[in-house]
Amino acid sequence: MKRTEKGIVCPNCERVDMLATYRKRQIVEYRNISTQKIPIGGVYGYKANWLKESAKLIGKEGIRCMACQKDLEHSDFAGVGEIKISSKGALFVNDFFERFTAGNKED
Ligand SMILES: [Zn+2]
Repeated sequence: MKRTEKGIVCPNCERVDMLATYRKRQIVEYRNISTQKIPIGGVYGYKANWLKESAKLIGKEGIRCMACQKDLEHSDFAGVGEIKISSKGALFVNDFFERFTAGNKED
């Protein structure tokens, strides 16, 4: 993981301090079909507009660079074995193997 005094460097675009966590929601919407009236040309129309039923979180939270819009994996960062995202922030965990072979000085 490359770090300057201004922050972590994006491994894809080299911009500094542009990382964000992201989460994805799956939105389910529905529209009621009107079946009381005789259909026009065989088509049952709608009663009203689209209604939102739910917006549930899908998958895990991830890390993204807001400069180049790339979703980043821990393996994109040199020497990082895992990225733990919590309500407090992001924890970049050193790669266990690399710590003993490359002797990197990060954190
Ligand atoms: Zn980037």
